[in-house]
Amino acid sequence: MKLPTRAHVVLNNPQFLMTPVLQVNNLQVTYYTEGGRVRALDGVNLELDSGEKMGLVGESGSGKSTMALAMMRMIKSPGRIDGGRVVVDGVDITALSENDMREARLSRISYIPQGAMNSINPVLRIGAQMKDAMQAHAKHFSSTEIQHRIDEALVSVDLRPTVARMYPHELSGGMKQRVCIAIGILLKPKVIIADEPTSALDVVTQRQVMQTLDTVQAQLGCAIILIGHDMGLMAQFVDKVAVMYTGRLMELSPVSEMFAKPLHPYAQALINSLPDLKKRGVFHGIPGLAPALLRLPPGCSFHPRCPIAQDSCKQIVPAFEEKLPGRFVACHFVEKA
Ligand code: SF4
Repeated sequence: MKLPTRAHVVLNNPQFLMTPVLQVNNLQVTYYTEGGRVRALDGVNLELDSGEKMGLVGESGSGKSTMALAMMRMIKSPGRIDGGRVVVDGVDITALSENDMREARLSRISYIPQGAMNSINPVLRIGAQMKDAMQAHAKHFSSTEIQHRIDEALVSVDLRPTVARMYPHELSGGMKQRVCIAIGILLKPKVIIADEPTSALDVVTQRQVMQTLDTVQAQLGCAIILIGHDMGLMAQFVDKVAVMYTGRLMELSPVSEMFAKPLHPYAQALINSLPDLKKRGVFHGIPGLAPALLRLPPGCSFHPRCPIAQDSCKQIVPAFEEKLPGRFVACHFVEKA
C-alpha cells in the first residue's frame, strides 16, 4: 500500500494551512524532592503543524517522557508544571479545569505510553476496554456511537472490528500495539504522542506499527510526536527531530538537515555515535555521562562533555534560537545566518 506523503496530506487538506496545531511555550516542570528542586523541563519551546511528525530524542533521563506527561497534564506530585503554556488547536490546555482537561485528553491530545500494550487488561475484551476509555473522556456518546467509533478506530489501524470481541492473549504483540493506537485515536485527537511505540517489537512489526501511525495521521490530519532512541526509525518516519538534554531542547531541525549536518555539538555527537556500514568496527561514543538533574552544571549543561566548550559556556545558558531558517539551536558558537 502506498502511503500518502505529508505534502500530499497538506495539499489536500486546506485546514492544515493555518497556525500550528501544537505550540509549547517556555514549558517548565519541577520535581520537589527531599534532595532538592529538580528542574526536569527547563523552558521548552516548539511548534508542530497538522500533518507533521516530530521525533523527540535524547538519552534516558533527558526529559522526553516528562515532556509527554506535561503536555498531557499528567505530571504527578512531587512534580508540577511551574510555568509555560501548551496550546493545542488554539486552546491553552494548561489553563483548563480538571474536568475540561479530562475531556481534552483523547479528543485534543492523546498519549500512547511506553509499554502501552502491556497495560491492556488481560481479563477484559478489547471492545470493553475501548468503551471504558471513550466513556472516561467523553460522556455524551450513545451506545451506538461508541460501537461505531470502536469499529472505525480498529479498521483505521488495520484490524478487523471482530477484534473488539477478543481478549488480549488472542492477539500478537503488533496487534496489541495497534489496539493501543486505536484507543489513542478513538476521539480523533489533533495531536498524538507515541512514547517508544515500537520497543520490544521485531523489525517487521515495528515497520507495520509505524505505517499504522502514518495511515492514522493521513486519516485524521493530526500531528504526531514520536519519542524514542532509535535514530534510524526517526530518519525514516519523521519530518523534524528535537534533541533533548537535561530537560532542555538542544536542537530542533528538519530530519534531513539534522542527519546531513547537525548543528549542536550534542546532536553531532549523537549522530556520530550511530553505526555506519562504511566505518565497520569503529564506534564513537559520547564521552562522559549526562549530569544528574539535581546537580546540573552552570551555564550550558552540556559543557563538561562538549569538545568545543569555552569559558563562557560554563557561565551563560545558551538561548534556544533560530540560527538558520527552520533550525533552532541552543549553543553560543552556532552562528545565526
Ligand atoms: Fe558546547 Fe558551549 Fe555550545 Fe554548550 S554552548 S554546546 S558547551 S559550545
